[in-house]
Amino acid sequence: MIQLFLPLNFLGFVYREIRRALTDLENMLGLLTRKPLITDKENAQQLTIQNANIEFKNVNFGYHSSRAILKQLSFTIKAGSKVAVVGASGAGKSTLARLLYRFYDINSGAICIDGQDIRNITLHSLRQAIAIVPQDTVLFNTSIRENIAYGRPDATAAEIDHAIEMAHLTPFISSLDKGDQTLVGERGLKVSGGEKQRIAIARAILKKSPILIFDEATSALDSHSEQAILNAMREVANNHTSLVIAHRLSTITDADTILVMQAGELVEQGSHTQLLALDGEYARMWQLQQTQAKN
Ligand code: ATP
Repeated sequence: MIQLFLPLNFLGFVYREIRRALTDLENMLGLLTRKPLITDKENAQQLTIQNANIEFKNVNFGYHSSRAILKQLSFTIKAGSKVAVVGASGAGKSTLARLLYRFYDINSGAICIDGQDIRNITLHSLRQAIAIVPQDTVLFNTSIRENIAYGRPDATAAEIDHAIEMAHLTPFISSLDKGDQTLVGERGLKVSGGEKQRIAIARAILKKSPILIFDEATSALDSHSEQAILNAMREVANNHTSLVIAHRLSTITDADTILVMQAGELVEQGSHTQLLALDGEYARMWQLQQTQAKN
């Protein structure tokens, strides 16, 4: 009997493994054939940039119908200006950026760039117009220079050099034996959070998009790295319409407008000085961060 039991038991095991593999394959094929949520509308037009004025008009949005995340949000980012968004974790800051890049469609209201509703324009032309500097940049296992240039294979050597200079990467690169040919990524040189963000800034400069989204790293950087990023950002912001998602208020005191968000609603907006004078939520957050910085 035992002579029969072992082979039958083994056959059972093989059968279960094959069934599991087939189910995995089925799920994978299901994913591959699933339609993307966001696609071009029929007759979608190319975005025509005049001066990159951004407008959110009564925007309502939820990731799921059961929970509203952004409520009746209206604001303008005037062409060429720098707008910062602040608020507690979960207030909806990153969601704003995701909606502008059209990772999701809004439930009601409109988001317009130079008067064109982003749902009526091609995703390609929309995303070409926006450069994103994410919180945590992915670096490929290749040289720093190739990492900067990968989004623009046609960039000239002079353009790459200019982006490196503008992103304040020159002192860091000069300190390396192999300069911008130094290998980075998982198998190369370990690059700090601040250096990574500056590499992302250089990529954004090379992309030559009129709109910039900058998602400030949540993790605290040393003050030298933070200053280098701020300097780089100031240069870039000069010729972009920028939306900065900020966690440290000290980095955005120079923004033209600061939007203060609370649980998906815009509760205050104005310049740093105006918001301090208002003595509301922003002033409270400012006091708190100043006290934390001293301790
Ligand atoms: P943080 O400062 O922590 O980055 P935030 O202000 O950027 O926060 P969001 O990331 O915009 O906040 O999130 C707003 C709300 O939406 C949160 O309650 C979050 O849990 C929810 N949320 C974010 N992404 C998703 C998602 N993909 N699916 C469902 N809910 C989400």
